[in-house]
Amino acid sequence: MNAIMQTPEPYNEPIKGYMAGSEERLALERELNRQYETPIDIPLIIGGREIRTGNTAQVVCPHEHGHVLAEYHLAGAEEVGQAIAAAMAAKVEWQRLPWTDRAAVFLKMADLISERFGPILNAATMLNQSKNLFQAEIDATCELADFLRFNVRFMEEIYSGQPRSAPGMWNRVEYRPLEGFILAVSPFNFTAIGGNLATAPAMMGNTVVWKPSSTAILSSYRLMELYRRAGLPDGVINFIPGHSSIVGDPLLESENLAGIHFTGSTGVFTRMWRKVSDNLTRYRSYPRMVGETGGKDYIFMHESANVEDVAVAAVQGAFQYQGQKCSAASRMYVPSSRWDELKPLLLEEVAQLRIGDVRNLDGNFNAVIDERSFDNAMSYIERAHAAPEAEIIVGGGGDKSRGYFVEPTIIVASDPRFVTMEEEIFAPVLTIHVYADDNLEEMLDLIDGTSTYALTGAIFARDRHIIRMLTERLTHTAGNFYINDKPSGAVVGLQPFGGARCSGTNDKAGSHLNLLRWTSARTIKETFGAPA
Ligand code: NAD
Repeated sequence: MNAIMQTPEPYNEPIKGYMAGSEERLALERELNRQYETPIDIPLIIGGREIRTGNTAQVVCPHEHGHVLAEYHLAGAEEVGQAIAAAMAAKVEWQRLPWTDRAAVFLKMADLISERFGPILNAATMLNQSKNLFQAEIDATCELADFLRFNVRFMEEIYSGQPRSAPGMWNRVEYRPLEGFILAVSPFNFTAIGGNLATAPAMMGNTVVWKPSSTAILSSYRLMELYRRAGLPDGVINFIPGHSSIVGDPLLESENLAGIHFTGSTGVFTRMWRKVSDNLTRYRSYPRMVGETGGKDYIFMHESANVEDVAVAAVQGAFQYQGQKCSAASRMYVPSSRWDELKPLLLEEVAQLRIGDVRNLDGNFNAVIDERSFDNAMSYIERAHAAPEAEIIVGGGGDKSRGYFVEPTIIVASDPRFVTMEEEIFAPVLTIHVYADDNLEEMLDLIDGTSTYALTGAIFARDRHIIRMLTERLTHTAGNFYINDKPSGAVVGLQPFGGARCSGTNDKAGSHLNLLRWTSARTIKETFGAPA
């Protein structure tokens, strides 16, 4: 008790190799088989109780949509009320617990992931979200463990921040949790994001009502199992899958809503914010709004760039996880003097993508998440097929008969404002505009003004003066800016992640900036002499 304790030094979870015959590969194969072959029933979890409403929907594999992994129960307005009540009740004890005890729960989660939960979470993410082995490993195991370990350290650093005191007084700041509950709403594309959206506010002493994405229910439920196993007290995180049209409003109308931790599309976050504004007079305090949203991420190639680096970065950046990363490269600007060199290299890289089922561990390209996403992607590709100002140089097909497979597709658009250069598609579609080398200035204005987003961007150049100039000119185009690297793959503790403009509130997941949003500081001044 009587000690100023320090948290363990955080480290990035090592990425396992999964070599043939290795222990980790065998463990993963066992989990894949178990979760594939044994459909489960997923309840709501409210105050630690499993609740089955009987109103159910199915969890399927996107790459084999006829295969059911689970049935899950959907929350209605009544369960939303119960979840809010459970969060408010659990808060009383949770916020009283010394922060070091809270820290220990989350550190234990991270260690459980390194050990027995890694294969469980990876397998669920592969089957439910159609991620290949490597993508699942860097998400559900590495990024999630990193969020937990680094956030514990950031929490300690925040709590260490104290004001100065003048003679005769002692000034302190204590970092209270917010008054009320936090609503966490997660997207389908990263299991780790679902984990972080709920655990980051909880770490700071808050309690949470979590609405997971309906296309990532299996991996989200596995997270709830992890929390329980790590000793997270009942009611600290409450799990309520459900239709957003049904659960959304009662959550946003609660007087106890203290904050929203959201990741997903810009449109949904904007609608939620609007509803919060409409309800503003109901709340006991102004809800904290933290949202990481859409992107239209770019790669800009300068004539001095190394063409091999650009080809690899473009294909990895655009097509890893089928282009369903918010940071995926989706528009690219190439100088005409280098296009003839770059084009064949791009085609060679794309030819190495092997489309198929996630259970083929040597495959690297799988399905998009659902039929809506498939149809949306194909509608953009159809527009490119039909447009005289666009040419599809690879891909352009799709097949949803067994799974939602969209071919990795590269479009070359002579119009830099062609629709696929401007709108987020969230699928394996990269559009390239080839610009005249002497048109650099105009291109930079276009990069800045083409889309409403500002999430990630990458520049490729060898000329140092150009790198400096581009870095300055493109200041507001991306919250995560890359020099000679692909625009995706941020690592917790190394590159805090988030974008501005319509890409979100830029509170940088996996950094102290995010955790600061989940605390409300109280300043205490104590005077030792007579008050003057
Ligand atoms: P989405 O916006 O469709 O859904 C996100 C979540 O919001 C889901 O849980 C959904 O059920 C819920 N939701 C939808 N309408 C709601 C409502 N009215 N009330 C309450 N909840 C509601 O996003 P998605 O398809 O799951 O994810 C893809 C999007 O997420 C892309 O736009 C991508 O760029 C973005 N994204 C951004 C980041 C980032 O860090 N900036 C990271 C991952 C994903």
